[in-house]
Amino acid sequence: MAQLHYTITPSDPKGHLYTVELVIQAPDPDGQILRLPNWIPGSYLIRDFAKHIVEISAETLTQEPLFIAPIATDQWQLEPTSQAVSVRYQVYAWDLSVRGAHFDDSHAFFNGTSVFLAVEGQTEAEIQVTIQSAEWISENWQVATTLLPLSANAIDEQGFGDYRAENYWALIDEPVEISDLTVITFKAKGIPHKMVLSGRHDADTLRLAEDLKTICEFELDLWGQPYPIEQYLFIVLVTDNLYGGLEHKNNTVLMCGREDLPYAGMREPSEGYQQFLELCCHEYFHLWNVKRIQPKAYQENNLQSKAYTEQLWWFEGVTSYYDGYILYRCGLLTVEQYLNNLAKQMTRVYRMPGRFKQSVADSSFLTWTKFYQQDENAPNAIISYYTKGSLIALALDLMIRQVSAGKQSLDDVLRHLWQHYGQTGKGLEERELEQLISKLTGLPLEDFFEQYLYGVEDLPLPRLLLNEGVEMTLRTPEHHKDLGGGEVKKTLLNAEEAPINLGANLANTEHQTIKVTHVFQQSIAYESGLAAGDEIIALEGLKTVSVQQLESWLNRKPIGTEISCHFFRQGVLKETVLRLTPAAIDRVSLQRIPNHSSSGRWLFDE
Ligand code: ZN
Repeated sequence: MAQLHYTITPSDPKGHLYTVELVIQAPDPDGQILRLPNWIPGSYLIRDFAKHIVEISAETLTQEPLFIAPIATDQWQLEPTSQAVSVRYQVYAWDLSVRGAHFDDSHAFFNGTSVFLAVEGQTEAEIQVTIQSAEWISENWQVATTLLPLSANAIDEQGFGDYRAENYWALIDEPVEISDLTVITFKAKGIPHKMVLSGRHDADTLRLAEDLKTICEFELDLWGQPYPIEQYLFIVLVTDNLYGGLEHKNNTVLMCGREDLPYAGMREPSEGYQQFLELCCHEYFHLWNVKRIQPKAYQENNLQSKAYTEQLWWFEGVTSYYDGYILYRCGLLTVEQYLNNLAKQMTRVYRMPGRFKQSVADSSFLTWTKFYQQDENAPNAIISYYTKGSLIALALDLMIRQVSAGKQSLDDVLRHLWQHYGQTGKGLEERELEQLISKLTGLPLEDFFEQYLYGVEDLPLPRLLLNEGVEMTLRTPEHHKDLGGGEVKKTLLNAEEAPINLGANLANTEHQTIKVTHVFQQSIAYESGLAAGDEIIALEGLKTVSVQQLESWLNRKPIGTEISCHFFRQGVLKETVLRLTPAAIDRVSLQRIPNHSSSGRWLFDE
């Protein structure tokens, strides 16, 4: 009999309530403490999951009631007893995200961090967990999880029944989805893989199986043997337009819009599908990079308080670099598609005035309050360790390739980390990575990290890319929604001739106003005093009802013109003057130079 036994039942689909029973054979005789994590690994925000516990009670196994009371917002304590106890509670699950728990009559999803109370002092004990069906659940529903069944006959055909976990930390790394699933199976290097789609969709499942197999086999080869998994599961929550992913050791949970999935007859991957494949590639890469190769600071944290590390440029940035590059290397994207996606990624850095204010190392360290709590001033104040981190990875890869004439690359660093850290479980100390990369590659990288990781300088990418036969061009935006990439039109190279750009993110509203959501510093919008939340209603006294109309009006005026602008702030009508100045040159385009070889073999010759 397991020391700890959890039973979870999706009991009330109307109230979105799970019922959980926890049996503890040997509670702390001085009063057992129970607690729920405050954050979930991979998502760096204090979420206070315990606030969703609605009712809690406890009794001995002989049904004598026991007193239980909160002693902190994330903890409860039981009345002292020397008998085995049963704790029952309900968890409200209405957070449709990869990080929480969500449940209604269409599906039941949960992360262990939302539903399973940890038993203090026994987090290393082996666990039995029963996933129990309920009367209202249809027989078409299935349980998707990489938890291992307790024994050969422990679960029924739908997957309900008894499972086990090595300890509490393994338990909460195994999310569960229960619904009428579409199940796609394939083998990668002989290892069973599964993708389950939950939610309405019309996806081409054969295409998904084929493309995923390509990605998984490429990554397994890239990191080398021994392979870290015996099975793998992609849980995909198909929604209208939500997007996200969270990595685990044996699985991942992804959210996508149904139009991101491939449809029967699709030839070239759509932009949405390219993004979805990048997401799959990214989370699978985390199998090694962050789930097994880890900052020491994460290994030492118990999920009650924030864990601090400067290393997310490596764990998220390098992963973001490889997610796109792998799709090209394994043949799912053409070089043009890859360079276009990379140019957009670069634009997400080059557009941000905040890149001169915050270093990537600080962005990682302070992610809890900055990156994960972005406000309207974020573009001016912070830089993402995903985007700029991916450019540090790109620059490192190009430098290693170029000095070794393509014989070495960042891949070698990955394999070293897998062998010496991932497989041994040794955590990475702060700043250990930088020394390790210098040592492995023989490159003097002290200044590099000082300038680009701990400093706020732009990476020397134009030169490094040129060596690979790729021209990097900075240009003006063609319109407000221009996210970079694409061809380099001549009119976009000279800011004096290029379209006017307000330098703000704008959105059409239901009541025919134009809402300002972000203002970039040193732009027309900034100089005029417009702020996030303002609603523009007129230019030069003329009703202006959409972003498109505003843009076409601005583009009829030469630089230097002054235009009156009416807007509402907090319901008060205000007027300002827009002084039209040249647009910022901050969108990146990448073009391959014909007949130019790639000196570090970063791109293949065609
Ligand atoms: Zn990631």
